[in-house]
Amino acid sequence: MSKYILAIDQGTTSTRAFLFNKEGELCFKAMREVTCLYPKPSWVEQEALKLWVSVIDVVNELLVISNKTMKDIHAIGITNQRETTIVWDKVSGRPVYNAIVWQSRQSLNICQKVEKHRDYIQEKTGLLINPYFSASKIRFILDKISNGQKRAESGELLFGTVDTWLIYNLTKGKIHATDHSNASRTMLYNLKTNTWDDDLLKIFNIPKVMLPEIKNSNGDYGIASFFSKDVHIFGVAGDQQAALFGQACFYEGDLKNTYGTGCFALLNTGTQPVFSHNGLLTTIAWKLDDEIYYALEGSVFVGGAVVQWLREEMNLIKTSDESEKLARRVEDSQGVYFVPAFVGLGTPYWDDNARGAIFGITRGTNKAHITRAALEAIAFQSKDVIDTMQKESSLEVKILRVDGGATKNKLLLQFQADLLNCEIHLPKCLETTALGVAYMAGFGSKYWTSLDEIRKNHCLKEVYKPKMDQKLAYKKYLGWQQAINSTRSFKVK
Ligand code: ADP
Repeated sequence: MSKYILAIDQGTTSTRAFLFNKEGELCFKAMREVTCLYPKPSWVEQEALKLWVSVIDVVNELLVISNKTMKDIHAIGITNQRETTIVWDKVSGRPVYNAIVWQSRQSLNICQKVEKHRDYIQEKTGLLINPYFSASKIRFILDKISNGQKRAESGELLFGTVDTWLIYNLTKGKIHATDHSNASRTMLYNLKTNTWDDDLLKIFNIPKVMLPEIKNSNGDYGIASFFSKDVHIFGVAGDQQAALFGQACFYEGDLKNTYGTGCFALLNTGTQPVFSHNGLLTTIAWKLDDEIYYALEGSVFVGGAVVQWLREEMNLIKTSDESEKLARRVEDSQGVYFVPAFVGLGTPYWDDNARGAIFGITRGTNKAHITRAALEAIAFQSKDVIDTMQKESSLEVKILRVDGGATKNKLLLQFQADLLNCEIHLPKCLETTALGVAYMAGFGSKYWTSLDEIRKNHCLKEVYKPKMDQKLAYKKYLGWQQAINSTRSFKVK
């Protein structure tokens, strides 16, 4: 009987587990929600033990649902919410503080203290100083617990992102490891030497002994001995990089954009890092065997969330799907532009102070125009990111691969194709994050033997080709730029 690859996806709001077969088809899935704690405004934490327990629960549930046992599993892959930071006691295996979630701002003043190293840090890590990344979170924990620094220096404490924490537990404390894609989000990893960087460790005063070993994304992470039968863990990657892989974006110039609450675009820039001057992050895509691939990453803060806002706050629609039907009632947005800068603006503007605005309203404007403008804003913002990527990498993008909840919206995807003047490919399997890490685990364990074999599994559901006259598309985009500029210059005194 043929075996499956088990992919575990530990995310901010849920832990999910999937079984994929040799054809890359999603056969079974199970899900558990996980909760966040908000101890203070802008602090976000999770109970690390609960994250681990959620994984055991969800895997057991998956086996029951699928009527399979661990004997049916060829290998395990793990993908995870990135940057979230856990520190635990090496002897007891118990966390010394809650997991500090990537979104949490609690280490902001640690970041402010190292601000003078901004350029140096960006040059080494490809990242912009921000509490998102793990380094300042580790520092926060060591400062917070009693004797933190001393205990860390003496080797009593271990650090890990969520992948590392799960591997440590699954292997009953035998393996303390991460992969290059996760390591590159800690702000302690040097993109050129591809290892932990002593100067960065010094800046944050973090002892090296607490850091995990960095392994290939399709490397051997030991045996998960927690279930009825031992199975090897063979693939690990951060969620966005896993999604890039799951979209078969294996080579330079391949690009994906995920349309979820926010939008995350990643461009594979090949075997050399490309550094940005316009707010894109440089990151490791993966290391497979001996080859490292890099990516440029850009993010839109409010993507599908604008539709949620129309639904929940404005009551213009009852379901997210209705947004398309309503927007189609009008031929175009009639010059209405919606800038959903609810929480500032991400790439390439990085403007914390910007706030949302709607422009171009006339007496004839109705809710269909506003809804259409809101959907168009998701595409305009994504174009801002993707244009910046093309400019900075000198790579021309011919195809954009898409996933995420808002890709159900055909009007949005067609408008995106028109704006970018490129094809948009929507895959059959939208669980690209889990699929990506399943591919890595399967590649590492010889379930699949080549990237070509994996690529053959990549099936498309739909292709969108540009239809709009490009002069008109350009004119619409100029209007958007004007709207963005006006939004940014609006300041309440
Ligand atoms: P996340 O993983 O960030 O939670 P998902 O990929 O599950 O997000 O996508 C959810 C988002 O997609 C929500 O913000 C929702 O408003 C949006 N969305 C869902 N369906 C549609 C639709 N048909 N049209 C536009 N947006 C949609």
